[in-house]
Amino acid sequence: MSDSPLIERLRGFTTTIFSEMSQLATRHDAINLGQGFPDTAGPQEVLDTAVHAIRDGANQYPPGHGIPDLRRAVTEHQHRFYGLELDPFSQVMVSAGATEAMTAAILALCEIGDEVIALEPSYDCYAGAVAMAGGVFKQVRLHEPAYTLDVAELEAAISPRTRILIINTPHNPTGHVLTEAELRGIAELAIRHDLIVLTDEVYEHMVFDDHRHIPLATLPGMFERTVTISSAGKTFSVTGWKIGWLSAPAEFIDAIHTTKQNMTYASGTPFQHGVAAGLALPADRFRAIGAGYQQLRDLLAEGLTAAGLKVHPVGGTFFMMADISSLNFDGDGYEFCRQLPERTGVAAIPAQVFYGEPQSAQNLVRFCFGKRPEVLAEAAARLHRW
Ligand code: PMP
Ligand code: GLN
Repeated sequence: MSDSPLIERLRGFTTTIFSEMSQLATRHDAINLGQGFPDTAGPQEVLDTAVHAIRDGANQYPPGHGIPDLRRAVTEHQHRFYGLELDPFSQVMVSAGATEAMTAAILALCEIGDEVIALEPSYDCYAGAVAMAGGVFKQVRLHEPAYTLDVAELEAAISPRTRILIINTPHNPTGHVLTEAELRGIAELAIRHDLIVLTDEVYEHMVFDDHRHIPLATLPGMFERTVTISSAGKTFSVTGWKIGWLSAPAEFIDAIHTTKQNMTYASGTPFQHGVAAGLALPADRFRAIGAGYQQLRDLLAEGLTAAGLKVHPVGGTFFMMADISSLNFDGDGYEFCRQLPERTGVAAIPAQVFYGEPQSAQNLVRFCFGKRPEVLAEAAARLHRW
């Protein structure tokens, strides 16, 4: 037997970059601008509702598809913000975060050998889930500095074995919000090649300037082939609760429930109550979330620029890509991020890990700006001393 009992196709996925860099941040007491999580509390109503739910005894298994209140809240949210009409009982399912939703969807829908195409760079869990399913993971590159998609390149990547597209907008790690033209191009290809589309929309309320989040499921002919995934973690600053949801035609929800029930079955009853309260908040509270992050984006952009880094434009999320070439550091972004916590007291994520060809992005580093203004200012000052 070889050294590790881990099956071969998962050997490249042992420790996530987020754990690795967060451990380094803790060891060196660094400001963690690596792993994406906010450092302020979410809406009081969300927190209070979960506390009350625990006190009121909502502590046993929820239904496998999620508590009815949350499924209804997701339905109403999708209608209020995007005009989508869903049936809460057959077309919505709650999951243990967007991660479980995505993994369960891939395990349910990807046959061994099927090709799954994602935007490059890609959030790390997609490739891991495709490997678990025995699928073939392919990427189509977004072009910096604005991380635009060339739809012709996406078309060229599609083969007769392609079954699934994974579209993430607003996009982690680049902060790109796919434009209506890009989304229409994707939709046209998905329909022409009869593909299933999994859309990861966890940053749907973190959109800036005149960018607009458009769910692919709202485009003509797309609802019937799209599984829309989101999560409470970022919107309500509760990343540790791990409450996400999917919405899709009933036959997709039924298929994905088959894998989901063998993963967690169900989770987080009191948190589901809290998130239902959050999704029912007035629209101006959601707008305020985006506006708050927009200010933090500007602060970090200013700080990183002053520290000598070249920052790329960010239309959404709480991530910013920066090019470290100008620092004359003798090494790639990964080595930079390994040394950063000890040398400066700041942690970041080397973006190359999100690329199929890491050497093609070896000067790119991702910073998370979901931190209080004084924390971002201190991080920028520390980076300036590098
Ligand atoms: N997708 C993307 C693009 C993410 O950035 C994250 C991290 N929030 C997730 C999925 C995972 O979400 P969750 O924590 O709800 O599992
Ligand atoms: N989504 C978070 C990020 O991109 C990380 C979540 C995790 O650690 N799995 O930073």
